[in-house]
Amino acid sequence: MTRSAPDSCPGVLRLHQAADGPLARIRLPGGRLRPDQLLTLAEAARDLGDGRIELTSRGNVQLRRIGDAEELAARLGAADLLPSRTHERVRNIVASPLSGRFGGVADIRELIPRLDDALRAAPDLAELPGRVLFTLDDGRGDVSGLGGDLGIHAVSAQDYALLLGGRDSGVRVPDVRAVEVLLAAAHEFQHLRGEQWRLHEIPDGPARIVAALGLEPTTELLEPFAPQDIPIGWFDQDDGQVSLGAGVRLGALPARTAEFLAAADRPIVVTPWRSLALSDLDEWAAEQVVRVLAPMGLIFDAASPWLLVTACAGQPGCAKSRTDVRADVADAVTEGRISPDGTPQPKQGLSTAEITVPGRQHWSGCDRRCGRPRGHVTDVVAAPDGYRITPPGVG
Ligand code: SF4
Repeated sequence: MTRSAPDSCPGVLRLHQAADGPLARIRLPGGRLRPDQLLTLAEAARDLGDGRIELTSRGNVQLRRIGDAEELAARLGAADLLPSRTHERVRNIVASPLSGRFGGVADIRELIPRLDDALRAAPDLAELPGRVLFTLDDGRGDVSGLGGDLGIHAVSAQDYALLLGGRDSGVRVPDVRAVEVLLAAAHEFQHLRGEQWRLHEIPDGPARIVAALGLEPTTELLEPFAPQDIPIGWFDQDDGQVSLGAGVRLGALPARTAEFLAAADRPIVVTPWRSLALSDLDEWAAEQVVRVLAPMGLIFDAASPWLLVTACAGQPGCAKSRTDVRADVADAVTEGRISPDGTPQPKQGLSTAEITVPGRQHWSGCDRRCGRPRGHVTDVVAAPDGYRITPPGVG
């Protein structure tokens, strides 16, 4: 594929002109946020935007309808949320959100700032496409299956598989060399890519990078990585503390809810499933968080129908949308028309009130289906004659 348009991924310094106003995307390497940074985002959303923080499928956040871009950049800069004006759009790093708390075979937390620092210190990598995604998986397999370009996957506490184009390259690297090898692979991708934005678009791209770096693949490759459940609810950490996984309705966090979350004063991770993880709580504090924030709309029940649905921006944020899909899907959830069980059937020409869909589903305002999650998902798409339902594997 040859690109005819320039990479237009938005950032803080280059806003996207959405139909409902300027949109800013703020990169959060590893999805990590300090409580004071979440508070800054909440205040910016309320003072300068539409009052909500949108969570993205790369563990970043977006603010819509920004009225004063300079003021936003100043506030984010003061909160360490804009550490580079040259590299802001290339800091796309997803990492296992609960690494080091429980599960996994390695603790990848230290690798996140090391990779971010190394990226920002490489002048030519400022020209990486904004769509390039780095993945750091602690071995549990939660982020290696997200279609990254350059990644590592722990195979032991000290050793990582190098992933290229989302698949095991066969190369193994010790933890002390993981960031160095990822950076070298990023440089080589930049050298090879021409007009391409993603590594999988380059013929034999992974093999060419391995050869150019003089790396030696092993013969045993890891299996492709399957999608995993979103971490929702109460999790006991190895150190006796508690992590809470919280779902966010349609990935839009109201500023007021964010302020209450920040008041818990614990580390926060925005996950690539548009949810949150709040960690290092004692049991009493965890119970208080659930007691206060569940009535405000955060989801701590893994069986909630809200966790089955995702939606694109729709109207009024996107001029291509045929309807306000987010309002339509919200109606379907609150009216009990979304259920976990059953077999979805293909249908078309449906009014909003006629839609009843079981299982995981993505609602879109047109056929582009922006933001569709990977995996087994039914499509609910607004067509000229009404909604069309397409189960996975059909059409
Ligand atoms: S799927 Fe269509 S309507 Fe929805 S955000 Fe993308 S372009 Fe807009």
